[in-house]
Amino acid sequence: MNIEIDINSGFCFGVANSIRIAEEEMAKGEKLYCLGELVHNEAEIKRLEALGVEFIDLDQLQHIKNAKVLLRAHGEPPSTYRIAKENQIELIDATCIIVEKLQHKIVCSYEEMHEKGGQIVVFGNKDHPEVIGLVGQTHGKAIVVSAMQDLDEIDYSKPVQLFSQTTKSEKDYNAIEKEIKHRLSATGLDPELAFKGKNTICRQVAKRAPHLKMFAKRYDVIIFVTGKKSSNGKMLSEICKSENKNTYVVSSVEELQKKWLEGIMSIGITGATSTPWWMLEQIADEIRKMFD
Ligand code: SF4
Repeated sequence: MNIEIDINSGFCFGVANSIRIAEEEMAKGEKLYCLGELVHNEAEIKRLEALGVEFIDLDQLQHIKNAKVLLRAHGEPPSTYRIAKENQIELIDATCIIVEKLQHKIVCSYEEMHEKGGQIVVFGNKDHPEVIGLVGQTHGKAIVVSAMQDLDEIDYSKPVQLFSQTTKSEKDYNAIEKEIKHRLSATGLDPELAFKGKNTICRQVAKRAPHLKMFAKRYDVIIFVTGKKSSNGKMLSEICKSENKNTYVVSSVEELQKKWLEGIMSIGITGATSTPWWMLEQIADEIRKMFD
């Protein structure tokens, strides 16, 4: 049986950087809180908790003082920085550089749209921390759309600037952009003047999509490893499924089922940008043990 781990999988650099910072801080032996899950992967969170990182939510942040708090790669809205200042909290800011640039772009566009009476639209999931951080840059005014049916929330008599959550699918973004332009035209606005589309999907995610299509076709079975809350995990595993119907999604080694792999000659193992490499190796080892 040929078992291969996708060499293009493992953490993206934004997540890798935040994990490195957390480990370096823990090595100093001081108390470290982290606001929200550092990475959407339950097993990696458990590993970090075992190192001593304490994960807190926004409500808990409001009740601690004089502490050290790590901010994850997804970024935060300005209100989080205000709370930290008021509570004398030292922030260790691991916001990914790509998200930081995106937040800055949204601030500039918001000012422009505010003057012109236009709207900022973010294609993403309302509850995703990165989207909460982005909407926060617009004083909560940005309209979040996650699917075609949300497009009714936009006023097509006014200009629109469209952004994307970094981990969305390029194909879905393009469809949303096309439909917004179409509806602007239908109300008599020229999309060339009234619309700016900013495809802000992270290249680290986007370039995995074509690679995964090729990878998924090369094996009899694909094991896709991802945390249950990972947005890009959902999107990338769907790509694998569309190319190889024998794709199984697991979030831990315990979820592997021997019956999926019986009589199979080749297995490809891959995962989300939030899946640690050690988990992919753990899955490969488990399969080898099953068929020893
Ligand atoms: S997916 Fe891209 S934007 Fe998001 S943390 Fe990773 S590198 Fe940064």
